[in-house]
Amino acid sequence: MVDKGIGGLDALYREVIMEHHRYPRNKEVLADADFKLEGFNPLCGDRIELFVKLDGGTIKNCCFEGEGCSICMASASMMTEEVLGKSKEEACAYIESFRMAMKGEECPLKIEGDLESLLGVRNFPVRIKCALLPWTTLNQILEDKTHD
Ligand code: ZN
Repeated sequence: MVDKGIGGLDALYREVIMEHHRYPRNKEVLADADFKLEGFNPLCGDRIELFVKLDGGTIKNCCFEGEGCSICMASASMMTEEVLGKSKEEACAYIESFRMAMKGEECPLKIEGDLESLLGVRNFPVRIKCALLPWTTLNQILEDKTHD
């Protein structure tokens, strides 16, 4: 089944997204997570649960569970790879850049690699929330000052 929302994407981008959807990275419950949080996108029905393990101020592990469309699941898969080993501040800066890039704004950090394929979703405004859900959920975890 071809996901309607990405049917119009550039073929290469679509391939990268479908590959992450089929073989998601870090899709598991993290039993020893320090933080977990659910994210929900009512527009599409995407639901994810995010798990984060910190070591000092560094993201030592980041996993997700849930069900959603291919864009959301692929985005979560790519995000968990990208933020691994980053400090909280670095991760927050990257999240901010990714958000800006998804909205078509100039962003300070370059969005590269597999993540670049998600930028193609910009052309389908209703699906931007699908791509952003994992990131906004992670941002909520990292910016919760009660953790400090
Ligand atoms: Zn979705």
